[in-house]
Amino acid sequence: MHDSRDRELGMHRKITRRDFLNGVAVTAGAAMMPWDLSAAGFGQAAVGPESSPNYYPPALTGMRGSHPGSFDAAHALRDGTFWDTAGKPEDTGETYDLIIVGGGISGLAAAHFYRKATGNNARILILENHDDFGGHAKRNEFHVGKAFRLGFGGTFSIESPAPYSAVAKDVIEELGIDVSSYPKYFNKNLYPEAGLRAKVFFDKETFGVDKLVVNPSPRGGGESEDAASLSPKLLTQFLAEAPLAEQAKRDLVRLQQQPKDYYPGLTSDQKKAKLARISYAKFLTDVAGVHEDIVKYYQALPHGLFGVGIDAVSAQDAWGFDLPGFDGLKLDPTPGKGMNRDAIPNEEAEKYFFHFPDGNATIARLLVRRLIPDVVPGNSVSDIVLAKANYAKLDDSNSPVRIRLNSTAVRVKHLGDAASAKEVEVTYARGGKVCTAKAKNSILACWHVVIPYICEELPDKQKEALASAQKVPLLYTNVALRNWTSLQKVGASSIYAPGMYHSYVNLDLPVSMGGYECARKPEEPIILHLMKAACHPGLPARQQHSYGRMELYTTDFETMERKIRDQLARTLGPGGFDPARDIAAITVNRWPHGYAYEYNSLFDDFWLEGGVTPCEIARKPHGRIAIANSDAGAYAYTDEAINQAWRAVGEITKGS
Ligand SMILES: Cc1cc2nc3c(=O)[nH]c(=O)nc-3n(C[C@H](O)[C@H](O)[C@H](O)COP(=O)(O)OP(=O)(O)OC[C@H]3O[C@@H](n4cnc5c(N)ncnc54)[C@H](O)[C@@H]3O)c2cc1C
Repeated sequence: MHDSRDRELGMHRKITRRDFLNGVAVTAGAAMMPWDLSAAGFGQAAVGPESSPNYYPPALTGMRGSHPGSFDAAHALRDGTFWDTAGKPEDTGETYDLIIVGGGISGLAAAHFYRKATGNNARILILENHDDFGGHAKRNEFHVGKAFRLGFGGTFSIESPAPYSAVAKDVIEELGIDVSSYPKYFNKNLYPEAGLRAKVFFDKETFGVDKLVVNPSPRGGGESEDAASLSPKLLTQFLAEAPLAEQAKRDLVRLQQQPKDYYPGLTSDQKKAKLARISYAKFLTDVAGVHEDIVKYYQALPHGLFGVGIDAVSAQDAWGFDLPGFDGLKLDPTPGKGMNRDAIPNEEAEKYFFHFPDGNATIARLLVRRLIPDVVPGNSVSDIVLAKANYAKLDDSNSPVRIRLNSTAVRVKHLGDAASAKEVEVTYARGGKVCTAKAKNSILACWHVVIPYICEELPDKQKEALASAQKVPLLYTNVALRNWTSLQKVGASSIYAPGMYHSYVNLDLPVSMGGYECARKPEEPIILHLMKAACHPGLPARQQHSYGRMELYTTDFETMERKIRDQLARTLGPGGFDPARDIAAITVNRWPHGYAYEYNSLFDDFWLEGGVTPCEIARKPHGRIAIANSDAGAYAYTDEAINQAWRAVGEITKGS
């Protein structure tokens, strides 16, 4: 039974992932990547895998994001076993002005700011544990027949719930990005004119039957442009078709159309204080008294923003998101104490939006081009879209800035007392070796949970604060389809699937620029983007993230592939979709350490009551070491990655 279902799903089909299953080639006789990541003994760039002409991570499919091989050294460090087998570190003899740990947007921006502060001759080394630069801002490339398609493997777009700071805007402008020009590249009408719109997929395990139904008030998963306010006409259609209990349907109408004050006699502030302390799920069942089907229906709505469901999002934030149930409370529109910044509407911020075909990987690539011009050819924002990076040039001894991939920092320490030391020594693991390099300063632009393990000399209180920055685990999956006729037949451009493995399925935004052409006709290949939040409803948010992280690390690619094929077969089957025939490639961008943790009034008292936040303690400079990353602002956005890089550079260049 299992085998025949697998055959229907196309598990036997040769797609690109077969060649790089779980990041390791399985072709007979050659258990290697096209470059040999596992080869022991490459310590220096000149002999590293990146110098191979075949080294081109964006084109890899299968398990990407935090790919196999990227986290072993860090996890051994966490488990206390790393130094048992590491051997004596080898001194590279290299000295720098600055060593940056982490090659995401924050680390790259830190290099950019440091050069601005100290000059372009500054010698900088960036260490990055993944096989590509950009951190979450990851580029995925696909070739399907003659078509070339780009996808985003993480950081999707320039967008933020609050306006970009002057510092972050300056970087965007310096890189040549004109955010206001976005409509020129975005084909807004393509999907609506083809009859596509937002849908909801109800699954039989959760709702008793598999059914694709119109979405009357799409909120988007962040990655679709389908968000729209409630349409009464579509609500009627939805109520007629949705497999929800009759009572649930009546309750939905009541929530939307019969406002009630659930807290009579309380002031607006008192009501907000109550809403800040109760989850939206509990508000719906215990306060508004709705049928449990409504909770199941809304459960996954916030996945794209917070990586948890409505069981772990406050009712006050739900009010900010304009979810139903609050009209009768007559709350004054000002934000309440403890609201998440994502839940506070801001018109200026909403207008500041730009999506490149590979997401904010373009920002990372533009930064790299500034830092090491030989890596990415060209000189404009549009020509970068198709430019092919030359990875052999990333770590060139002739360049003042070097980016060393596949290199995990395992120890960062002052050579002497932090208050008086003149140098910092950074030890890193790379290709089976452990090496050291020295610098006047170091910026840790990596994930905060890693820092206590690599910088043991930090005060305990700071380590504790760093460790509390539990990242949000997510999958960003790109499925290259040979065509999208089945989506056209079922009339869907985005699908909210509250009970499925991936809770959002979106057709890539149709953006063409710099010679890159998006799919225009349903017969053409396209990228379908799927999003999963690995959450465990009912637990406090940090615990959900911790369990979800384990889940993502321990689920193999084959299991994920089966779930992807099954979900698409069930959702798009009525449109003629055949997963065995129509799927050309799958790239699962696994991010067990995804979004920065954002404070939550349900679980973080300091966020409600005021006081110093953990990220303020975590990001304190220590001697010649400063700390960046979006974690340093507890805010999961690119502008914060840039803001925190700017602050960190300011701390180490102060007085110089
Ligand atoms: C799936 C996803 C989608 C997102 N979408 C958006 C979006 O649309 N818009 C937006 O503004 N933001 C988005 N974000 C948030 C995103 O985190 C930030 O915008 C930004 O890319 C973060 O940059 P960063 O440099 O702070 O962190 P990261 O990108 O995480 O970079 C830190 C780097 O440090 C590396 N590192 C860790 N430990 C070590 C070590 N010991 N040695 C060497 N290197 C190390 C990590 O591997 C990583 O590459 C998204 C995040 C995710 C996960």
